Amino acid sequence: MEKKIFIKTFGCQMNEYDSNRIYDSVKKLGFLKSNDQEKVDCYVLNTCHIRDKAKEKVYHEIGRVKKLYKQKAKPIMIVAGCVAQAENEEMFKREPYIDIVIGPQSYHKINDILKKFVNNQKQEETDFDTVNKFNYFERVENKNSSVSAFITIQEGCDKFCHFCVVPYTRGPECSRPFNQIINEVEKLIENGAKEIVLLGQNVNAYSYMESSKEYRISNLINKLESYSELKRIRYTTSHPRDMTDDLIDCYSTSKKLMPFVHLPIQSGSNKILKLMNRKHTVETYIDIYERLKKINSAIEFSSDFIISYPGESEDDFNDTLDLVKKIRFINSFSFIFSPRPGTKAANLNLIDKEISKERLLKIQEHLSKNQLRMNESLINKSIDVLVENKIDGQSKLFGRNMYMNSVIFNGEIKNIGKELKIKIDKVNKNSLFGEIEKKNNKRAA
Ligand code: SAM
Ligand code: SF4
Repeated sequence: MEKKIFIKTFGCQMNEYDSNRIYDSVKKLGFLKSNDQEKVDCYVLNTCHIRDKAKEKVYHEIGRVKKLYKQKAKPIMIVAGCVAQAENEEMFKREPYIDIVIGPQSYHKINDILKKFVNNQKQEETDFDTVNKFNYFERVENKNSSVSAFITIQEGCDKFCHFCVVPYTRGPECSRPFNQIINEVEKLIENGAKEIVLLGQNVNAYSYMESSKEYRISNLINKLESYSELKRIRYTTSHPRDMTDDLIDCYSTSKKLMPFVHLPIQSGSNKILKLMNRKHTVETYIDIYERLKKINSAIEFSSDFIISYPGESEDDFNDTLDLVKKIRFINSFSFIFSPRPGTKAANLNLIDKEISKERLLKIQEHLSKNQLRMNESLINKSIDVLVENKIDGQSKLFGRNMYMNSVIFNGEIKNIGKELKIKIDKVNKNSLFGEIEKKNNKRAA
């Protein structure tokens, strides 16, 4: 009989990709994806542990699910993702409603776990078994048919920044075989993908050895360039230390690699970068920025910032503000430092809450100003937009410009998947609005 499964996904694009792969896998057992979370046989929380009260959020969510199913048969309750990895079987003690706890590197075992499932018998899988996971998912067809498709090429991290939980929840760095990635990309292109986003916690550390040849992310980008159906290539998230010459060269040679570099710096102060164990300096970062700008002045940067890392003085914070003014980062993320259990920075003295909030507000003001200035500079210009979808309940379409900003305009469904020229007439901080430029898009409507 047909069964239904719902996955609630928290956190990054890698979790989003994983959730879709779980759907692809459990389909073989007759579980169909459902968007109605109140009537399913299996309920999955795919969790994120990067910041805030991640663990508490999960228990809160389970409380909500319990209420939804109070008068109905209980669904199989699965906690997946990084909180599952960090908390493992402890979760059963605190919340007996949970049936299965599965870490991100064990998703290849999901079908066997579900096959074995018997009420009241808890199952836990939190090994770092990344190679077997990659091999398993090579055999499960990727059904994603979106215009912009994610593909994980690398998992885990060996850098151990003192604030970060990723090396503990995703395990050591592991890169997928080159050909495995290419086979999946070809499937995604067959399904209609026009943009491929290469994913990894440290995506530019991708390194796969075969017959004594090392394959790097630059080799993947060069290979993707050759598919005529593909229009755009992106990658995220990268580390400044892995911005090697071969990757920088791709910005000269590739016509499809978008001129938008998301490169987290975290702080504009070398003292703080050292305390964080970031293994790069502000100067090395600026050097990458200047080299890329020289190759193509249209390249824009976005970044991640951690505000009020323990030890951050007013001067250190001002160094970060100066950097934001200099590089004019767009589309960036900034958060107050959040201590993660088990990391080196877990027990350091925190900076006063009010000061931290003020600093965050200040940096976000500058980042928003940069963002708005960039968007305003596009008014009355015709820009290339990859059309991704129709907006629900409206006659409008949605796409993205080369810097990942949403662009909204009137148009017909037949334009989905096309790259069109859109003349921008209005903007706000988050979106651009315009109309299809008729003379440049003869066959578009
Ligand atoms: N690998 C990337 C790099 O080297 O910067 C970042 C990946 S990390 C999963 C995503 C972002 O989460 C980081 O860039 C950082 O800004 C943020 N982050 C990680 N741990 C954090 C913490 N303890 N508190 C606040 N933000 C954190
Ligand atoms: Fe976390 Fe990125 Fe540092 Fe790795 S390099 S520990 S993923 S912030």
